[in-house]
Amino acid sequence: MSEQQAQTTPFDLPEDHPFGPHNLPYGVFTPAESDAPRVGVRLGDYVLDAGAVAAALGSAHAAVLARPSLNPLLAAGRATWTEVRAALISWVTEEAHRAIVTPHFHALADVSLHLPFEVADYVDFYASENHARNVGQIFRPDAEDSLTPNWKHLPIGYHGRSGTVVVSGTEVVRPSGQRKAPTDPTPVFGPSVRLDIEAEVGFVVGVPTQLGETVALADFREHVFGLTLLNDWSARDIQAWEYVPLGPFLGKSFATSVSAWITPLEALEEARIAPPARTHALLPYLDDTTEELKGEPGGYDLRITVAINGHTVSEPPFSTMYWTAAQQLTHMTVNGASLRTGDLYGSGTVSGETEAERGSLLELTWNGKQPLELPDGKRAFLEDGDEVTMTAWAPGPNGTRVELGEVRGRITGAR
Ligand code: MN
Repeated sequence: MSEQQAQTTPFDLPEDHPFGPHNLPYGVFTPAESDAPRVGVRLGDYVLDAGAVAAALGSAHAAVLARPSLNPLLAAGRATWTEVRAALISWVTEEAHRAIVTPHFHALADVSLHLPFEVADYVDFYASENHARNVGQIFRPDAEDSLTPNWKHLPIGYHGRSGTVVVSGTEVVRPSGQRKAPTDPTPVFGPSVRLDIEAEVGFVVGVPTQLGETVALADFREHVFGLTLLNDWSARDIQAWEYVPLGPFLGKSFATSVSAWITPLEALEEARIAPPARTHALLPYLDDTTEELKGEPGGYDLRITVAINGHTVSEPPFSTMYWTAAQQLTHMTVNGASLRTGDLYGSGTVSGETEAERGSLLELTWNGKQPLELPDGKRAFLEDGDEVTMTAWAPGPNGTRVELGEVRGRITGAR
């Protein structure tokens, strides 16, 4: 089972193709002969012009689909998301629609892909216990506990910069900034020499809330439309000097890459799993072990692969994340902060228990002390020209896989 399976028409897909009709991620694309971006769904190596086919079939959903962004669909809410997905599945699987649907497919190789939604606010969390413990051991080796005292009581996060969220394939310019090693007498300015990745999953909010409103754990799927792979590029040297006491700033805000494809949560029903056992009692608003939430597991079984220049360096398992996306959404709104359509929040770096499952070079090389041996040389941190690609899949129905759209970015030299 692989993406390389032969596909000569949009419909000529093996039943277990990872971008089959059970997947149908959403994106925004421009066909070769056009300059008008529009919503599409991916089927195999093709993209279907969702608005055009909806109009051709007289669907009531043509209006939210024939747009240059996913935001109108995101704002429409869960009932519409369910109806649109069911319609799309019927359009790409039922013989009766084939003559009308076929002309609205475009080969992926011939289209341009865009950032699929207008990013409203952007928040990034810190939900992997393995990652938090590794970072604690690296930066606070003398601390009694590698976790900070708050870590098991609330999902730690910070507000990032939504305007620099970029679509997969966008080049990332090496950032410059201040850094000061402990041994340096004064800070210096220049291109980052410790440029890193963070393998994450991003969650995309559809339905907004009013100021003062909160979102309960049980309402997660009324608000969140889907997820996407996310690379939280991080300049560790800039970050280390600037982050005390207010947290990440310019070491993170230069770029955050997301996939061109948003996978709807509805495509990931078979991937839902219980998160790791809770080791500390949670305050009621974050408690996901209640009777009400039985049968609504908050974890997702996503198997991520991180490659540098085509060479796999890590396979972080999202199933190990301690805090769930539902808990993060609830925590983010518990103070009455409102949600906006297009809000994006990152899970935090995904790191599993083993060395081969760490989601950052910081951890993979133990702060540069143990460089990776790649076919093209040693890497402590990223070099100019390096291309980082993250892919992932999740269990789908009937033994299939749901492949997530990749997120890819190449580093170019500092300006
Ligand atoms: Mn991060």
